[in-house]
Amino acid sequence: MVDKVYLVTPRGFCAGVEMAIKALSWMLKIYDETIYCYHEIVHNKWIVEKFQKNNVVFVEDPAEIPNGAVVMLSAHGTSPSIESLFNKKSSLTINSVCPLVTKVHHEAKRYTDKGTQILYVGHKGHDEAIGAIGVAPENMHLVENLDDVEKLNINGNVALLAQTTLAISEWEPIMMSSKNKFENLNMPRKSDLCYATTNRQSAIQDVLNNVNTVLVVGSENSSNTKALVKMVESRNVKAYRIEDTNDLKNIKIEGNIAITAGASAPDHLVFNIIKELKPKEIVEFNHKDESEYFPLPKELRNNVKLISSFLEIFNLSEVTPEKKNGISNDRNWSATEALSSL
Ligand code: SF4
Repeated sequence: MVDKVYLVTPRGFCAGVEMAIKALSWMLKIYDETIYCYHEIVHNKWIVEKFQKNNVVFVEDPAEIPNGAVVMLSAHGTSPSIESLFNKKSSLTINSVCPLVTKVHHEAKRYTDKGTQILYVGHKGHDEAIGAIGVAPENMHLVENLDDVEKLNINGNVALLAQTTLAISEWEPIMMSSKNKFENLNMPRKSDLCYATTNRQSAIQDVLNNVNTVLVVGSENSSNTKALVKMVESRNVKAYRIEDTNDLKNIKIEGNIAITAGASAPDHLVFNIIKELKPKEIVEFNHKDESEYFPLPKELRNNVKLISSFLEIFNLSEVTPEKKNGISNDRNWSATEALSSL
């Protein structure tokens, strides 16, 4: 029996995920054909399946798309060489990369242009790490743990960059050890861990004294979801990653618990889980409000506006995308609403 559920804020969708989901939803509204998306748009099973049912095909290689296809590149960032392969084959490619990932790509390019070797702290095989390292593969060294730092044998100027979604408990020891090993290590003024990653981890850290278990809603391949689990476990509190209510069958929980969600997990999954748990009490635990907003990709905005003008001129639609819930009101339209509109 669960007594109290502490419902932690912030949780779930970050500004980058909001933007990417809305961008792909707009693509479905304005193009009739199948949209090919490079990598999962965001790492969440429910969202991926929702888009698949609505004529989106997710691919891992430009060779998988037909000539002239309409393409979207995911929020995790795409290396310049892969983007150019998509551009060569597609009739249109819209890039929904999160601006905070783009910032890391710019840093990688800037350090590479100066002849600085780069340590990139990330997870091998993760879409974001693949995209970032693809900016300068000859110059970037992936490090996943302290051993990797120890084994490195590089000279000259060295810089440290990171995947945006790491656990603070993963990042800090590697950062300290790199600082010890490389004199004058270059680093961006602020770590590359993004605001959403750090806010979600700080929020759950604050609630730990009140609970015996934490549920983290999110998919297996979501890095920031796994980072939340790691962070809780590093404080010796039991943590479970759960996809949805089905996973509750496999775990035994009681007493006071907290629930949070990774940055790509939709909130209705959180509420379904709470409903299933039937706690005696739900306590809102608000660590911090977030107001970050990332605008839709510029090329997509321009395309939607052009189509809207066309529809208006010929009076073909009573509600053009420009008006209610239109592209100009994007800030007031949530990714949750976008998903429900499909
Ligand atoms: S988790 Fe951070 S870096 Fe990733 S999409 Fe969200 S805001 Fe951007």
